[in-house]
Amino acid sequence: MRVTWNSGVQIQHKEDGVILDYKRSSPSGSTFFISHGHFDHSAAFRIREARKYSSKETMDIVSSFGLHPENSSPVTVGERITIGDIEVIPHNSGHVLGSLEYEVRTPEGTVLFTGDFNTEATKTMRPAEPIQCDILILEATFGSPSFVFPRIEEVGEEMIRWARRVMRRGRIPTFQTDPLGNAQEIISLFNDSGIRVVTHWRVTLMSRIYESYGYDLEYFDEGSSEAEEIMREGEFIYVAPKNFTASDPGFEVALVSGWALLMGRTGFPLSDHADFPGLIRFVEECEPGVVLTCHGGRYDETLASYIERKLHIRSYPVKLIPTGIRKADREHLQTRF
Ligand SMILES: [Zn+2]
Ligand SMILES: [Zn+2]
Repeated sequence: MRVTWNSGVQIQHKEDGVILDYKRSSPSGSTFFISHGHFDHSAAFRIREARKYSSKETMDIVSSFGLHPENSSPVTVGERITIGDIEVIPHNSGHVLGSLEYEVRTPEGTVLFTGDFNTEATKTMRPAEPIQCDILILEATFGSPSFVFPRIEEVGEEMIRWARRVMRRGRIPTFQTDPLGNAQEIISLFNDSGIRVVTHWRVTLMSRIYESYGYDLEYFDEGSSEAEEIMREGEFIYVAPKNFTASDPGFEVALVSGWALLMGRTGFPLSDHADFPGLIRFVEECEPGVVLTCHGGRYDETLASYIERKLHIRSYPVKLIPTGIRKADREHLQTRF
């Protein structure tokens, strides 16, 4: 079995192969698995003729962006998809609606590809499932020891306190965030607090898909007459995409993202990714022989060297070199150095 970087994580066994979260839209002969609907993971949907697999939720999400999930098959948690000698089993990754990790089994060993994942339970998601594997391909978005998120309940309480303060000053508490994932967490949080939520159309679009899967979210699209009335009365929060620029000085803006930890301006570190301690705990639970880091830019290296030093497990960025594993290697892989 071979793991290589080919604009995505490529796993091959003899003549069979799959590519996970391909980043390009140019045709290739391979079979693609897509972990979730965020743009940086779902480019393979642009390749019409390619064979693709993802959750049904992810297919609905990318369809709403105008992509065509042709030649795509929906997969569910626990199902087994067979590609020649390779078997792929999806598991929950806890990141956003429909997000999956993929366990890829070959006769020579098992790989777990996390995609983006979260180890904490949130209002909308269950935590990612650790799976024992020979090779763990680990998302490194927050792969530096400085990323330690406070408890989600604490962040939520702080957001509500801030919103009340802003409303008392007669202004509009505005949360800039990812329309898929964090936005629905915010809606859910404020639904529990009794404060009404008005949404930007891009947040509305994603929230409707959550509702179609049985999520109970209450929000008012900014274009609706109810929203207009709420906005006249005051006392509401506004949820908008990250690139939203306030046209009205009445908006008081806060960023909601794990990156808020690094930023000087008002922000809240509510995240749909694992923080650093979460990443390390997940590695320990999966008990891999090798950890290949990805999706973290410069943190790929930071996280890998920490894993080598502290957990004594061989680790390096997946982009660095191809990783091979033969049946005879497996015993050796399992031995920590
Ligand atoms: Zn994501
Ligand atoms: Zn991502």
